[in-house]
Amino acid sequence: MPDCIFCKIAAHEVPSYTVWENERFIVIADIKPVNPGHLLIIPKDHVEVVFAMDDARYAEAFAVAKRLSDPVRRATDAAKIGIAVEGFGVDHAHVHLIPLHGPHELNPDRAQPADPSDLAAMAEKIQREIRGNK
Ligand SMILES: [Zn+2]
Repeated sequence: MPDCIFCKIAAHEVPSYTVWENERFIVIADIKPVNPGHLLIIPKDHVEVVFAMDDARYAEAFAVAKRLSDPVRRATDAAKIGIAVEGFGVDHAHVHLIPLHGPHELNPDRAQPADPSDLAAMAEKIQREIRGNK
């Protein structure tokens, strides 16, 4: 999809705070995080909604969420890691992975634009945790 921002990010045509990627998924910092460390798990192939992904891709999206949950928790000292799917923002499937410090934080009304240097620093911190603190 030529005008899709997530397709452009997945193709590295638009810069993002990329935390992790493989051939099928890219994981980036949300620029309007609900909490610091809020990530978006995005399939590289354009598909409008999460439930339109084939079963293997859908399962992998949540396996990626599981794989990154511990590194995100360590990087943010979060009490819990939440998952959310809404699909109102961008018409390209994505799963929100959100560090939570207490109940009722999984609320998009809390999302605030973050400072680019904070986003970069947090992305780097999570990457370090993914690598096992190296
Ligand atoms: Zn797209």
